[in-house]
Parts: sequence; C-alpha cells; structure tokens
Amino acid sequence: MRRRSAQGVAILAVAAGTSGFALAACSLGGGISQAPPPVIAPPPSPGPPAAGPPPPGPACGNGKRLRVHFYDVGQALAALVDLPDGRHVLVDTGDSPARSGCGEVCATKHNALLAKLRADLHGAPIDLLWVTHQHSDHIGGAPEVLAAFKVGAYVDNGKDERKAEVRLAHRAAEQHGARVGTVDPAHAEAPLEATSELRITPVVPATWPPSCAHDANACSILLRIDYCASSVLFTGDAEHDEESRLTTLAPVTLLQVGHHGSDTSTTPAFLSRAKPRYAVISAGRPDEGLNADYCHPRALVVERLTRVLGGPGRQTLRAFDGTRCAGAQPSEWRDAATSDRMWATARDGDVVVSTGGDGVFVRD
Ligand SMILES: [Zn+2]
Repeated sequence: MRRRSAQGVAILAVAAGTSGFALAACSLGGGISQAPPPVIAPPPSPGPPAAGPPPPGPACGNGKRLRVHFYDVGQALAALVDLPDGRHVLVDTGDSPARSGCGEVCATKHNALLAKLRADLHGAPIDLLWVTHQHSDHIGGAPEVLAAFKVGAYVDNGKDERKAEVRLAHRAAEQHGARVGTVDPAHAEAPLEATSELRITPVVPATWPPSCAHDANACSILLRIDYCASSVLFTGDAEHDEESRLTTLAPVTLLQVGHHGSDTSTTPAFLSRAKPRYAVISAGRPDEGLNADYCHPRALVVERLTRVLGGPGRQTLRAFDGTRCAGAQPSEWRDAATSDRMWATARDGDVVVSTGGDGVFVRD
C-alpha cells in the first residue's frame, strides 16, 4: 500500500512482506474443540474450496464466525465485515446524503446506515474503511462515517483527489485521525495484519485497464477476505475489462456482485474463475432513487449467477430486461429466477450472512 503523506496523518505501514502474512496453518493450537455450527443444505455444485488457505483442520475457527452485513443503502454499496477476531472492515459507505437527483432517498438511507453501524459495532472501531472506487454511491457517505466512528485506516485507489467527494473524504480522515493509504496496481499490499486463520488481500490488476482513464468503475480495488475454508470477495463496480485483468483472481465462497448486477460486469469468464457458491447484489429497487437512471440489476446477469450458484430456487428478483435504461418502460422489468444462495438488498433489505469458516454461509 502506498503511504499517503498528509499533514497530521499517521502513515499506514503494514506491508505484506513484513506482517507475517501467511495462512500457513488453519488451526488453533491448544484451543478447545467445539462442535461446528449447524449447516444448512450444502451447495449442489460448489466447485473447489476457496483458494489460498489450506483445507481447515477440525479446530479451524474454533466456533467463531465471520459475519457480513450488506446494508440496504439503495442504489449503492456499504458492507460491514465482523472478523472472527473482533476487528471490523467496512467496504464502501453508501451514497452521499446530499447526492444530487437522489431526493430524500439518499438522506434516508444514509441516516439508516449510520444507525445500523452504531448498533452493529457496539462501540468498537472500524479497523479498516475500504473504498472500492471514487463514485459517490461508494465514497459519498465516508465523511460522516469518519466523523461518527473511530476509523483506524482509510484506503482508496488514490484516484480523483480533486473530486469533491474524494476531497471531503480525505479531509475527514485527516481530521479524525484515520491513517490514509492507497491501494492500486503498484501498491497492493495487505491493509490489515493476517492471523493464522484470517487473511485480508487486495485483488487488483497488474495495470489499470485503459478504461480507468475515463471510467471510475474500471479502477475499482477489490478486497478478498479468507477465513479458514470460507472467503468473500468485494468487487465494487469492476467491469469486464478489469475483471479480465485480475490475474490473482481465485475461487471464492461469497461474491459481492460487481456493479450492482449490471451487464457491464460478472462475465461468464469471470464466474468460471471465481466459482462463487453464494452471491449478494446490492442495488436499488427499480424506481428507487437514482436506480431509475441505471436499471440495476440486469436479468441476464441474475440468471447467469443462478446457473452458477445452483438454481433456480424458490424466489425471483425484479430485474431489468430491456436494452436501454433511458426511457425504460415498466414492462421491461421482469422477475428473474434466483438461486437460494443469492440475496439482493432490493428484495431482502439488509442481508446479513455468516460463516464458521467451513465454506458455508447462512443468512442470520
Ligand atoms: Zn456503484
């Protein structure tokens, strides 16, 4: 990670090569063996377990759970990860409460996010605030998050530093004492210390795709968290050209579906490499706030995921099936079949899932 110097800001100095960063053994020496958590029906076509960690020993996790809160923040993303060792990672911050054109929705969702974070953190700090890219629906809530909660480290992709949202986020980080760092293709070191069971890894291409020069989505910094045999991959709004450049992409258990389920992302080639067993789409409802302008998710992506995850299951998801969002008619939305291992904030509200490290996620 590039250390970003800023007046009055400490420097984030954890580097992969110096932090004992290896998940060499997935067991608790001397730990008390506990019964594993209850397991729901396993996926029918799981693919190989998440790459990186070795197969877990019987004591791996020792009954502790990793939990991910995908908050319903409308047409945006904000996900809190409760690590099993008590640390917390927040991936993106929802939209700005004052986002132009969003009306009351963005302010309402933002205030609800702060209240939920307050309830879920129980006074604990956010050890890492990870901003996938510099679009308002991901970084927009950062100033208020940084003001309301103790944040250990703030990380983004280092782009667009003169953009208003980015300036406000950086200023808030500096004012409130968060260490500020950049992760990008040249600086992809681990943002948090690993433990024997837990690994937190940036996933970025070797070089930015050319489209990064004019499309902030294409400069998303992905974050992977491995816990024993379970893993989660946050993709932000990464699109086709970035997906195809992710040379370190490996099979993952739980996928945050890229770009809110847009057809710009989640290609068959990407899915054949990521091999997710579970997936969550964070997107607005069809007419909610700015999703009227974006029409996320797309039906073909939902159905592509359903085929990979195993399905269809018992539910459907309202998804756009037209060619152009501008001027879209209600008839161009339809109910797409979903796997029972797929959740969506537009349908399910807050999606909270957890794992004991055995490769199985359950909705809490
Ligand atoms: Zn987005």
